[in-house]
Amino acid sequence: MSRADNAIDLRSLSLEETKELVAKHGGKPYRAQQLWRWVHDKGIRSLDEASNIPKSLRASFDEAGVILSSLHVAEVQRSVDGTRKMRLETSDGRSIESVLIPDGDKMTQCISSQVGCALDCQFCATAKLGLMRNLTAGEIVDQVYVAKALLAEEMPGQRITNIVYMGMGEPLHNFAHVTQSLRILTSDLGANLSYRRITVSTVGLVPGIRKLGQEDIRPNLAVSLNASNDEVRDVIMPINKKYPIAVLLQTLREFPLEKRRRITFEYVLLAGVNDSLDDAVRVAKLLKGFPCKLNVIPFNPHPLAPYKRPSVEVIDAFQQRVRDLGIATYLRTPRGDDIAAACGQLANREEPKQSELVQLR
Ligand code: SF4
Repeated sequence: MSRADNAIDLRSLSLEETKELVAKHGGKPYRAQQLWRWVHDKGIRSLDEASNIPKSLRASFDEAGVILSSLHVAEVQRSVDGTRKMRLETSDGRSIESVLIPDGDKMTQCISSQVGCALDCQFCATAKLGLMRNLTAGEIVDQVYVAKALLAEEMPGQRITNIVYMGMGEPLHNFAHVTQSLRILTSDLGANLSYRRITVSTVGLVPGIRKLGQEDIRPNLAVSLNASNDEVRDVIMPINKKYPIAVLLQTLREFPLEKRRRITFEYVLLAGVNDSLDDAVRVAKLLKGFPCKLNVIPFNPHPLAPYKRPSVEVIDAFQQRVRDLGIATYLRTPRGDDIAAACGQLANREEPKQSELVQLR
């Protein structure tokens, strides 16, 4: 079924909205729960598969132009380390990417929130696409359902245990659809994931962070810091000119964190740019007193960015210095970099037309 901009998409609706829709089409109230299970638990691709939903109700949906958005798996690449990168096509022919990362008994899925991105971080391959459009809530959650089907085929018994919104796009720049997708993924009638196992990663869109703090949902929050001062951050992450480090950190101090939760700061180490021991000292100073941890991510080189990965010695020295200054610091080893699935490398081959690019408001 094709995606029409104003069409009602069953996969994007909350359970309450599904109930209202079913009622409007003359269906019995319990049909909404049945429908919801087909869409979000069984992950059906077409309403024709919802065998216990009366044909008359399905026909009524069809007549009214109600759709069920479904992603199509165009390609799966498998890394030697077990990471799988899926290229997924939306019903209007857009490509996005989603990555499955096995780690012991954990299986983390990195999902996309937009087609491309408007934020223009200089080390990121997705940035080069520009922003083509937001993903709908249905398209965001469907990444999890197609991954679930892939795992059932290739690794029977393996569940997706963790979700990170760290794929293509800035999640808080697509606030409404991302928060709707979080509600859907945590529903006990669907994927039933716990907020404790879901992380939303942002470059630091201050209004979005404030808004998230006011919602009744509590995913983990990760923030890409990537520099120890505004001078460098202005260059590698242009969003810093709008929301400099001090404003970002103040916003995070006011964020209503649940007990025993910490904010994760991400720090992509770029050789000669932000990896000195002075940088390490400044980072530790910035984060002092925060309930937080720091993930140090050595840059994954790709042809779309001019940066290099620092040497092992530099990486170790940076990490050690921050840790010595009292910040819980972890080294994130690149996963799936042989298939360009590692952090910052997600960029499908779709070429946007200039007229399609969306500016950051
Ligand atoms: S790092 Fe994230 S926010 Fe920055 S350009 Fe890439 S996808 Fe967008």
